[in-house]
Formats: sequence, C-alpha cells, structure tokens
Amino acid sequence: MSEAYDIIIVGSGIVGAATALALARSTSLKIAVLEAKVSDDHQEKARYDHRVSAISLASKTILQNLHCWESIKAKRVSAYTQMHVWDAAGVGEIHFDSQSIGESLLGYIIEDRVIRRSLQDQFQCYQNIDFLCPAIVDILKEKENQIELVLSDQKTLQTKLLIGADGANSWVRTNANIEFKNYDYAHTAIVATVRTTLPNQATAWQRFLPTGPLAFLPFDDPHDCSIVWSAEHEYAKNLLSLDDEAFCEKLSDEFSKKLGVITSVSQRYSFPLRMRHVKNYVSPHLALIGDAAHTLHPLAGQGVNLGLLDAATLAEVIIDAHKKNRDFSSLSTLRRYERWRKSDTLVMLTLVEALKQLFGSHKKSVQQLRNFGLNLTNQLPFIKNFLISYALGKRGDLPGLGNL
Ligand SMILES: Cc1cc2nc3c(=O)[nH]c(=O)nc-3n(C[C@H](O)[C@H](O)[C@H](O)COP(=O)(O)OP(=O)(O)OC[C@H]3O[C@@H](n4cnc5c(N)ncnc54)[C@H](O)[C@@H]3O)c2cc1C
Repeated sequence: MSEAYDIIIVGSGIVGAATALALARSTSLKIAVLEAKVSDDHQEKARYDHRVSAISLASKTILQNLHCWESIKAKRVSAYTQMHVWDAAGVGEIHFDSQSIGESLLGYIIEDRVIRRSLQDQFQCYQNIDFLCPAIVDILKEKENQIELVLSDQKTLQTKLLIGADGANSWVRTNANIEFKNYDYAHTAIVATVRTTLPNQATAWQRFLPTGPLAFLPFDDPHDCSIVWSAEHEYAKNLLSLDDEAFCEKLSDEFSKKLGVITSVSQRYSFPLRMRHVKNYVSPHLALIGDAAHTLHPLAGQGVNLGLLDAATLAEVIIDAHKKNRDFSSLSTLRRYERWRKSDTLVMLTLVEALKQLFGSHKKSVQQLRNFGLNLTNQLPFIKNFLISYALGKRGDLPGLGNL
C-alpha cells in the first residue's frame, strides 16, 4: 500500500505538531504527521507532567495564532512575574520583574503534555492533516524529487518534503546522514514536582551551585514547583539513589531553604544533557526542526521556545513559496529557513555555554568576578531589561506567527 503526501512530519511533540497546524491553517497541502509513541496512561494520570517548560511571550503568541492558547489555558498554565537568580558561591544575585519592562508577567510555566495535547486536538479541525499514531518508520529512501518512507507495517509513503521533528535522538537526522556537532555537558538533569512550606511567589528561581544549576519553576498552586536540578553525573546518580525523605532534605538545604522546607517529591526522572547542533538544517526535500536540529542545556529554559520559532519560520517559508508557485521543497527555498533560524540558535547556544562555563568554574577569581558582574547587572536597568526581553523572545526578526 502506498500513499503520497506533500509534506510528512516525523514526530508530534510540541514542535512537530505546531508546524503541522501552522501549515494546515494557511494551505491545502496534504500533510501526514507520524508519531511513534501513544500517550502513556501512567504519566497522563500523574497530577503534574514531569516535563515542564518556561514558555516565552513569543511562544505564547505562536500558540495563540494557532488557536491553541484557550485550550492550553483551560487545562493549566502558571504565570510567573519575577525571576531570581543567585550564586551559591558568594553574594551575587539578580532579580527580574515584569513591571520593569512594562509587562504584566514574564512568561508561563506549562506542562509539556498540556501543550502537546492541545496542539494535537486541533488536528481534527483540518481535513488536510492525517495523524498516524503509532507509526514506526523503518526505511528512508531519497528518490528523485521526493522521499519515500517505509513503515513497520510495510505501508509506503511518498513526500515532496520530509520534516524531522523527532527530538534529540532524531531518526530522520541519522537516516538522512546529517552531521551534527555534539558534546556532553557533563550534567544530568533531575526533574520532579515538589511541595514547599513557603509560597513560590509566582517567581522562577535558579540557584547556581558548584555542582550545577538548581531551578524551581512555580505552579499556580503556590506551594507546588517543578524542579530542574542539573548536576554532575556522579552527584546526580547519588541524588537519584536517595529515598524521598533524604532527597527532600538535601534539596531544601541546597536551595538554602529559600522556599522553606520541601515536604514531598513526586517520582524523579533524569535526562543526560548534551549539546547538539546540526551542520545543515536542510537538504533537498528535507528539513530538521526543534530538538532534532539543536539541543541545549536547560539552564536558560529555551529549547521549546527555539523549536516553536523554527516551526513558525519553516511554515512561513514554505507557505510563501507555495503561494508564489515556487517549489517549497527545493534547497533554495529551505535555505531561507536555515539562514533565518541558525544565527538566532547560535547566539542562544553561545550564551548558554558562556553561562555554564562561568557558573561552573571553581576558581576563586572567576567566582569573585561573576558575583561582581551579577550585582552590577542587577543595578543596570538598561542591560537587565535587554537580557530579559531577549529571553522573552522579544528580539530581531520574528516570523509572522510570533507577532500578534
Ligand atoms: C530537563 C529539561 C528541562 C527543560 N526545560 C525547558 C524549559 O523550561 N523551556 C524550554 O523552552 N525548553 C526546555 N527544555 C527543552 C525542551 O523540553 C525541548 O527542547 C522540547 O521538548 C523539544 O521539542 P521537540 O518537539 O523538538 O522534541 P520532543 O519533545 O522530543 O518530541 C519529539 C517527538 O517525536 C517522536 N518521535 C521520536 N522518534 C520518532 C520516530 N522515529 N518516528 C515517529 N515519531 C518519533 C517522539 O515520540 C516525540 O513525540 C528542557 C529540556 C530538558 C531535558
């Protein structure tokens, strides 16, 4: 059995699903979305999803323009209005407040399953999207002017454009032989939901410990937070082996009891952290987006935000070419997406690397310098406001979907 599509998207995470909707709302192109994983009942039933993202205002606008925001909001979003970052080795600290940049909030903490489900629910509004789940792709064949995929059930799909949105260990990237730079951040991230005795004050907190950054992301229930604790691999292994009581005690101490005592912790999950960045985002009839194209340390909370900008930009480039009767899958068209997104991603990767190096240094001189720098920046509203506006996605050349 064989079927032809204009566009096939492999992966229906936040980035792949957003791309499908962005394309379907403005074109009649025939789109297939292939997803390997059926939603996990156990994880769906947990009170909170363990995967949580700090969503920037630019990402919110994209989700709004895709008509998903109301559905996301109805499920659960937690707005945060302040951000507090401080160094465990010294007295350096920096505080960001939404009012200082004329906004009512800085962003939203949202569970990945909430965004993903709201995006996938929207698929049914478009007759030109076929959602195939579970779909396991076995073979990728590059043919003249198209790509052929063979699924595990022997079904064959042909497409003019294949979009790899299949995450950090992208099958598409591997099977299309796309090279990428990568290295180990030497950190494992532990994620969990915790309950604290003091309220979270709608503030995103991050403490830089000598072993790595520890973030508390506030939920709408003021005593609940999602934590992202990035620590050197060995230390993380020890933390994971502690029982809940010992883990909570250690966590309260390492967070200098900023939110009082941690009274409970959910199941803990761990993610080894690697930097990955593909050499080329595109090749003829193929494009990579989201984590398939780049992964970075979660200390700046930017992975989903970069991925949604990829989705909006690639969709815009394809729609534009299609409207002008140009080949939307040609290398020259796809290169426009690559040029648009690569420089922004490189800036973010460099910034994150610099922060990781700066706060990872155990040298006294570096520690003194960064504490001085943090306190100085905290007193310079111009620089501070520029930094926070950048992180919120208020920058440069945003794709149309990122503008209200
Ligand atoms: C600990 C941690 C904390 C983070 N915190 C933040 C944050 O605060 N803010 C932020 O912006 N980002 C954050 N990130 C990054 C963010 O989670 C990722 O950047 C984002 O989820 C990537 O989305 P994606 O859709 O590209 O990939 P994924 O979410 O990985 O989705 C890929 C999809 O493809 C499917 N798939 C995979 N292989 C195949 C295949 N062969 N066939 C079909 N389907 C396939 C998968 O099942 C999945 O559904 C964090 C990451 C980590 C590890």
